[in-house]
Amino acid sequence: MYGGGPELRLNQELILGIGGWRLLGALGIRPEVCHLNEGHAAFAVLERAWVFMQESGQPFDVALAVTRAGNLFTTHTAVAAGFDRFSPELIEQYLGRYAQEKLGISVHELLALGRQNSDDAAEPFNMAYLALRGSGAVNGVSRLHGQVSRHLFAPLFSRWPEDEVPVRHVTNGVHVPTWDSAAADDLWTEACGKDRWLEPTEPLEQDIRRISDARLWELRTAGRQTLIDYIRTQLPRQLAASGRPARVVEGAKTLFDPNVLTLGSARRFATYKRPNLLLHDPSRLLRLLTNPQQPVQLIIAGKAHPADQPGQALIQEWIRFGRRPEARQHVIFLSDYDMLLAEHLVQGVDVWINTPRRPWEACGTSGMKVLVNGGINLSELDGWWAEAYTPQVGWALGDGREHGDDAIWDAAEAGALYDRLENEVIPEFYSRDKDGLPTAWVARMRESMARLTPQFSASRTVREYTEQHYFPAAANYLERAADKGAAGARVVKWQQALDEKWAALRFGEVNVETTGKQHIFDVQIYLDDLDPESVRVELYADGANGGGPVRQEMTRVRPLMGAAHGYLYSAEVPALRPAADYTPRVIPHCPGVAVPLEAAHILWRGRSR
Ligand SMILES: *Cc1c(COP(=O)(O)O)cnc(C)c1O
Repeated sequence: MYGGGPELRLNQELILGIGGWRLLGALGIRPEVCHLNEGHAAFAVLERAWVFMQESGQPFDVALAVTRAGNLFTTHTAVAAGFDRFSPELIEQYLGRYAQEKLGISVHELLALGRQNSDDAAEPFNMAYLALRGSGAVNGVSRLHGQVSRHLFAPLFSRWPEDEVPVRHVTNGVHVPTWDSAAADDLWTEACGKDRWLEPTEPLEQDIRRISDARLWELRTAGRQTLIDYIRTQLPRQLAASGRPARVVEGAKTLFDPNVLTLGSARRFATYKRPNLLLHDPSRLLRLLTNPQQPVQLIIAGKAHPADQPGQALIQEWIRFGRRPEARQHVIFLSDYDMLLAEHLVQGVDVWINTPRRPWEACGTSGMKVLVNGGINLSELDGWWAEAYTPQVGWALGDGREHGDDAIWDAAEAGALYDRLENEVIPEFYSRDKDGLPTAWVARMRESMARLTPQFSASRTVREYTEQHYFPAAANYLERAADKGAAGARVVKWQQALDEKWAALRFGEVNVETTGKQHIFDVQIYLDDLDPESVRVELYADGANGGGPVRQEMTRVRPLMGAAHGYLYSAEVPALRPAADYTPRVIPHCPGVAVPLEAAHILWRGRSR
């Protein structure tokens, strides 16, 4: 995935996007909906439009208007640097002829699809911009990431409030049957039946609450034991392979204690994941791990890209820490983090720790994998955990705000992490009733399993994609494609009229009258010769007191006397807020068309947002 330079990358993406769509065609698969997972696949947008051009005889712009209704773009990165970008020269080299001879558009027009400013000849071609412009809907992968993505794509929607940048979210989920242990599968089957992930997941919450404390604790203990058995076979091999002395290899065969609180953390060692936050104060960590009354064992796994020197150095730090004689029985680093290792870890650990730097973990999924197995999360309030966390289901780090790459903040968070472990996690695990059950711990486990497992399962995610996106996208695509794309052609005509005439639109007088409980706005608007049906006039107010923004449609009352295409618009809003909070605006409107995704014009009265 990460090898080679931009040219290889572009070649891969041509194969993925254009080749991928052709492959489907060759197999006789003609999907109505194409879900673009990240911008890498965005060239599929072009190929799909071209196929429609051939079938319908329509030009590229109409074909794109038809087919994009059936495309959904999911963005995954939380930083603009995560978008693939290519130099205009490279795009021209590989796609110049394709654009001119097949799509019938100029290279300039093609480049414009991947640019913020189509006239900036130096601006690179952004695959995420192409994907957005070629799609009928766009989403991020967690609630917080939706918000971050609206910020990232705001430059394409200038003068629109960030709230209205057309990126929604569908939070990721994990495929639970892949990650549950055999014992967890048995327990869930007993409580919820065999088909639990194929049916609506809402009833599962009640079913899992009925499981007894003892049964839950049994699951947890068995999971921990199985993981330790696995480590006792895996680690000696890893140590022998890296040339460690026979004494160390032998020692690993009896490593760890199945009754000790077991923390796990596994990740790509990218710096934004802060995989070494726990190592911030090595002696404090050591004291926590080696407290004889309440010992802790810690499993770290991870991989860094071979070219990522800082990432490699972070791994070395963990390996060095693990070789300290006092640490040896309490912490191990497992290399070759892959799905098999992940499976063992998520089935066995009591607590999963994740410490990304907010808001750079777009969603994060590794912590979801422990839920079904009764593992509990201790994580930064970022990605999925920012919407999953409540005090009953786990532990949180951070204040729910962004602090950037700040060493002082990192130090404070490391301190908070140690505090949380020392004062909450460890005592709760070791506080037992007369039968040896940690009742508070089991209660937290149960809440985490009951509330979060169904919510962060792929069943819920796929259902949301299907209901919110796939069904509407398919219907919209079929409507636009019917009759050789007649509706698509109307959309293009509408867009062309907006492009030509928008600059001439202007506001006349605005009158506000306040009568008791209402502000009555009368607004004069000159539409030049734009059809009044192709716009919508609104009063807009930013959200106040934590509420969302207000958008009140205005009604066209009558033509203005003596004016060509001048109209009076009127609306009433409650006088709870000052009239000055409301600004009249004109936005594009066309039934079945996504605004501002497909037409980003906007005209505000008297303010240049
Ligand atoms: C789940 C998983 C990941 C992704 O984890 P995130 O928390 O989403 O970063 C990466 N690698 C492996 C092997 C996994 O199993």
